[in-house]
Amino acid sequence: MIQTQLYIDGQWQSPVDHGTRAIVSPADESVIAQAAEATRADARLAIAAARKAFDGPWRQTTIRDRARLLNKIAGLIDRDAEKLAHLESLNTGKTLAESRTDMGDIAATFRYFAGLVASESGAVNEAPHHVISRTLREPVGVCGLITPWNYPLLQAAWKIAPALGAGNTVVIKPSNLTPLTTHHFTQLVAELDLPPGVFNLVTGGAEVGAELAESLDVDLVSFTGGAFAGESIMKAATGNFKRIGLELGGKNPNIVFADADLDAAVDYALNAAFFHAGQVCSAGSRLMVEDSIYDAFISRLAERLPRIVIGNGFHGETQMGPVQSAQQHEKILGMVQAGIAEGARLVHGGKRPAGDVYKKGYWLEPTLLADVTADMKIAKEEIFGPVITAERFRSEEEALRAANDTPYGLAAAVWTRDLDKANRMSRALRFGTVWVNDYHPYFPEAPWGGYKASGIGRELARIGLDEYTELKHSYINLAPKAMGWFGA
Ligand code: NAD
Repeated sequence: MIQTQLYIDGQWQSPVDHGTRAIVSPADESVIAQAAEATRADARLAIAAARKAFDGPWRQTTIRDRARLLNKIAGLIDRDAEKLAHLESLNTGKTLAESRTDMGDIAATFRYFAGLVASESGAVNEAPHHVISRTLREPVGVCGLITPWNYPLLQAAWKIAPALGAGNTVVIKPSNLTPLTTHHFTQLVAELDLPPGVFNLVTGGAEVGAELAESLDVDLVSFTGGAFAGESIMKAATGNFKRIGLELGGKNPNIVFADADLDAAVDYALNAAFFHAGQVCSAGSRLMVEDSIYDAFISRLAERLPRIVIGNGFHGETQMGPVQSAQQHEKILGMVQAGIAEGARLVHGGKRPAGDVYKKGYWLEPTLLADVTADMKIAKEEIFGPVITAERFRSEEEALRAANDTPYGLAAAVWTRDLDKANRMSRALRFGTVWVNDYHPYFPEAPWGGYKASGIGRELARIGLDEYTELKHSYINLAPKAMGWFGA
């Protein structure tokens, strides 16, 4: 049985009140680990350690030291990639192939930020000859990093790499449902020769996250998760006006025009909605199809859905695993029922698959709800499960209006062979990412984040590093002389 501990001030330790939480396999509900469950008291110890480390010699590290550190971490991720992928699939239920892809992306994220950090240099500004004026980037300070359960280590990497790379100290709090890979990652960091307190792991629930958001000793909170927690973090952050980054939910339209390559569009409609059983913030669960091809498109999806192989993520033939928790399972089934009650037509799924192997665990059939209209709850709210809701549209204007008519703005996709239309739609859609004739790709080099209620700030790309820095104007007068403004 895996047992996890907290990592505070360079020491592995139990929570002050010895709390533990059973970590459950989403595939069969068996207990796979006992994780340390921290409280506010542990969070305070971790914050104090991070504060001390930030105010100590860690400030003297050079960009070369930190770039080397990130590259070393990438090397350790590569070394333990199979072990980490195994833990991620065990804890989240996603297929091993998906977890392996995550680990490759995580190592790439650390290498990308290593390169970026190494290329940092302050700017010298134009100024009188006796003045040195420089614009400098400095670390923000102690960073509280709060991550969700769907991409546990990937989301952590997007925060840890730029935070450490910019010279900050870190307290990370993964979701208490999925702490296993962040715990193993911390074991990797513990192999390195970092000063105590630079990197701290506190596994626990909302109260630990709330302590990070409220503490006056934390200078920045970066959060990925739902709107409810995001709102409370934003309010808590006003105590010291700490910096915040929020990566929140999405309601992401996947818009298919009649002139699209339909073989590709049908195939990607499945990828968009069913990767990781739809538990992806950018999942393309809101399918919008042009009227003239709508019926044919739905028929083609209806043929494909029953062929999706649902199963344990460790089995080679599995294409879709379970959802992560009992709570999610119940919530998704409730959303499907709400859709049917509002008049949507259930084409496939909407229930636990039949068979003994699916009796235990949080299994759901891939689900298609057709004839959805933009005013229905299922067209507006995030479902976060393996459900496609399909709407019909008659014109480009109607598609655009309906797609933008959501509080969210994370990601959208457009399928068309008409480049002019593709360009018009890309510009007019109010989303942080717009894909044309594709779904889901992201790169460390490109920014990730949302418009509107999908969040504040961006991760990845140069801006993902800049968010972890303060800008300073350093002005040095080499030849001070009395000005005489107020006389001698
Ligand atoms: P959640 O909001 O319940 O929890 C996220 C994290 O916040 C967890 O670590 C949790 O313990 C912590 N937390 C909960 N309440 C808190 C509070 N009051 N103060 C501080 N911390 C608190 O989200 P979840 O269910 O773990 O994740 C699913 C959500 O995350 C979905 O809405 C999804 O769209 C979103 N998400 C967004 C992105 C993105 O890049 N925009 C990526 C992944 C997931």
